[in-house]
Amino acid sequence: CPAIEFEQVSLTYPGAQIAVLKEVSFTVSPGQRIVITGPSGAGKSSIVKALTKQYPPDHGSIRLFGQDIATFDVRTLNERVGCVSQDVFLFKDTLRFNLLIARPSASDQELLSALDRAGLDDFLSNLPHGLDTLLGDRGATISGGQRQRLALARLFLRVPDIVVIDEGMSSLDVVTERWVIDQILESFAGATILMVTHRPSAMAIGDAVIVVHDGRIEGYGTYDD
Ligand code: ADP
Ligand code: ADP
Repeated sequence: CPAIEFEQVSLTYPGAQIAVLKEVSFTVSPGQRIVITGPSGAGKSSIVKALTKQYPPDHGSIRLFGQDIATFDVRTLNERVGCVSQDVFLFKDTLRFNLLIARPSASDQELLSALDRAGLDDFLSNLPHGLDTLLGDRGATISGGQRQRLALARLFLRVPDIVVIDEGMSSLDVVTERWVIDQILESFAGATILMVTHRPSAMAIGDAVIVVHDGRIEGYGTYDD
């Protein structure tokens, strides 16, 4: 059965008059890499928010490997779906703590390797206390691009079945983005990948592209189409 299955999913945000997703249906096979694209405000992030159970659909169903996500608890869902989005949550604690929340059993060696693969080796070498440096207000400052890389480092510490990247690279320059995408493809070789992006360079990684417009799926095809 499909890794991801949206069946006639409609979503209206609390208090809103108009549905932001209108009977959206698509499937993603295990190991497939799908890119979701479309204009700003089309509903791309809302698809991710429905998939990660931040908002329940008005009707329709969302299944992962045949199982309705309504039956998943948040923890199970988070274990199976690894998500990098624009809003990365940072604790006002050490870099080590901010990485260990992804996998508490990880060794320092594994943390360093994840930081390397996310391109944060330079950031780390400039920190006064390495992994023990405090982040946030009273510690080291961290830029938007570095936050996104930190989210990627967290992703690299886990083994999700499904990887969701919601404009995950928006703060990265094109060359860095290409490098990070290669790291993702290498690290999650067999995983199902759903990537939301505007960028043609990122679209090329998809086996297929879904075009969303005004809350509906307007097109489905390969990148070349
Ligand atoms: P995209 O990712 O394609 O830019 P979004 O899914 O973020 O589009 O947003 C689609 C529409 O839903 C937009 O009009 C946006 O303002 C609205 N929207 C997004 N999040 C919320 C929310 N939490 N509550 C109400 N409306 C929202
Ligand atoms: P994104 O491009 O990631 O969807 P937005 O700038 O649209 O980011 O949204 C930022 C935050 O505001 C998100 O938490 C989103 O859910 C919320 N939001 C967006 N549009 C609306 C809206 N029309 N009403 C209420 N909340 C919204």
